[in-house]
Amino acid sequence: MRQPLARRVLDRMFVRGEVVEVERMTPRMRRIRIAGEALAGLSWTPGQHVRLLVGDGRGLLGGVLRTYSIWRHDPTWEAVDLIGYDHGGDAPGASWVRSAAPGQEISFTRPEGSFVVKEAPYHVFAGEETASVAFGAMLRALPEDAAVYGAVEADGPGEHLDLPRKLVRVCRDGAPAAGSRALVDAVRELDLPDRPGVAYLAGEARTIQAVRAHLVGERGWSRRDVRTKPFWTPGRRGLD
Ligand SMILES: Cc1cc2nc3c(=O)[nH]c(=O)nc-3n(C[C@H](O)[C@H](O)[C@H](O)COP(=O)(O)OP(=O)(O)OC[C@H]3O[C@@H](n4cnc5c(N)ncnc54)[C@H](O)[C@@H]3O)c2cc1C
Repeated sequence: MRQPLARRVLDRMFVRGEVVEVERMTPRMRRIRIAGEALAGLSWTPGQHVRLLVGDGRGLLGGVLRTYSIWRHDPTWEAVDLIGYDHGGDAPGASWVRSAAPGQEISFTRPEGSFVVKEAPYHVFAGEETASVAFGAMLRALPEDAAVYGAVEADGPGEHLDLPRKLVRVCRDGAPAAGSRALVDAVRELDLPDRPGVAYLAGEARTIQAVRAHLVGERGWSRRDVRTKPFWTPGRRGLD
């Protein structure tokens, strides 16, 4: 009884695909392409994410859900590209990122989320490695003449994801990404126009709060102009 029920639940909740390509983008980030017929009809707005069923084969669903932004998707492709950051340790998401290989099957939810670009006089992006994946997709979705500012943090030089528009690159040099001062300082130094634009802050939750506090408290932006999406924080598992 258990297997058919599990299969029905899986088929209703998830899209199924297969890993077809893996590419190292930075020392700790891997682009993982998932393809399959079921991906042909997916609709996706840049900035949206999927939740992957990764893990241990236990429980009704056979694993746990972990969230990854879509880096690229073209409906004619029957494929999506995700980019996973390996933060180390044996947590299910990081383990999957490290071990993904062509031929592996993977189930995931349809693209969802409201962390997407909106019309604004200009756009500000700030976050660390995990956020840079969503930022890449969002930047590609903006018109070429859209005004863009921002700062992206990585641990060291050579660890930043190449993005379609130029953002300031900051290194934390071994300091924790949680509650990162380096990113807040970099945003503070941005030479932004006097009136507010829209800011997209993603990645570690405490850092996001600090960047938002800077924009609202020091630059006088309204909270409405700051879109936030916490991706992870120490001690919490599978945020979202
Ligand atoms: C909307 C959304 C989109 C996301 N997009 C991406 C993406 O495109 N690429 C990507 O790599 N991640 C992305 N993430 C973040 C990813 O889902 C988390 O990092 C997730 O926690 C990884 O799962 P895990 O099983 O490895 O760790 P978990 O079991 O969830 O966490 C265990 C512990 O690991 C630590 N940890 C988790 N993530 C990090 C990290 N990045 N750096 C340092 N320590 C960490 C924390 O201490 C946490 O308590 C996204 C998250 C959300 C909510």
